Amino acid sequence: MNRLDGKVAVVTGGASGIGAATARLFAQAGARVVIGDVQDGAAVARDIGGTFVACDVRRSGDVAALVARAVADHGRLDVLFNNAGIERNGPLVAMDPQAHRDLLDVNVTGVLHGIQHAVPAMMANPGPARGSIVNTASVAGLTGAPMLGSYAATKHAVVGLTRTAAIEVGSAGIRVNAVCPGIIRTPMLGGFSVDEAAIARIGRIHALGRIGEPEEVARLVLFLASDDASFVSGQAIAVDGGMTAGSTGALPGPGL
Ligand code: NAD
Repeated sequence: MNRLDGKVAVVTGGASGIGAATARLFAQAGARVVIGDVQDGAAVARDIGGTFVACDVRRSGDVAALVARAVADHGRLDVLFNNAGIERNGPLVAMDPQAHRDLLDVNVTGVLHGIQHAVPAMMANPGPARGSIVNTASVAGLTGAPMLGSYAATKHAVVGLTRTAAIEVGSAGIRVNAVCPGIIRTPMLGGFSVDEAAIARIGRIHALGRIGEPEEVARLVLFLASDDASFVSGQAIAVDGGMTAGSTGALPGPGL
């Protein structure tokens, strides 16, 4: 199924969770993968035959160096999975201002940095199809999210960046899409101190009655990254077990 044969992919936030699962699937699909993360991703990279580069997506220079490393090592960049993100929660009226700024810095500015450095690298590829950028938004980028208002603002912003970038770079043959996961079993869930009973309750806000696994997001990202999605751009696609299909779903806040 080598849908990424000959392609070079950069994955931000690739040391853990959805990013690590996607980096692994990209490698299985034939890509050469470079992982960037603030936490150590050397073990994940070693495991998949890829490379780890320490990178804080809040810093433009770090993201530039990450992309430059992929191009230096492998001669090109075809895919960026712009996935690094953080979660901070609290009711909007009491949201800590620094936590709000941290969310904007990582989840929005970090994604912008990825677009800003990946596009020039992809422009060096021969056309007409020059590359694919996939941004990680969230169901909280599509609907309001009680107790996650600042996070939801950042993920709506990711959808805005995605649609705008798709229009701005589409004529160059670069596609830009977003994935909008429901609740996925990753270390990020630890922010809610959830036990298995809580996970079962959270599962019930998804039509399928359970939370998702990182690999289930990774398979959508692989599709969007690959030429199978050659006419798909500017989309924010939910991979949420049906959570946003009805009007009853609401993201859980702490204590649920
Ligand atoms: P995770 O915590 O396992 O992975 C996030 C990764 O991003 C970590 O490896 C972390 O070190 C890295 N990271 C954080 N700040 C960074 C920075 N400044 N620079 C570089 N890397 C940084 O969580 P995850 O669930 O795999 O999250 C991946 C993405 O999925 C995030 O954008 C998150 O908002 C989004 N998401 C997660 C869920 C969920 O339920 N887990 C749902 C919807 C969207």
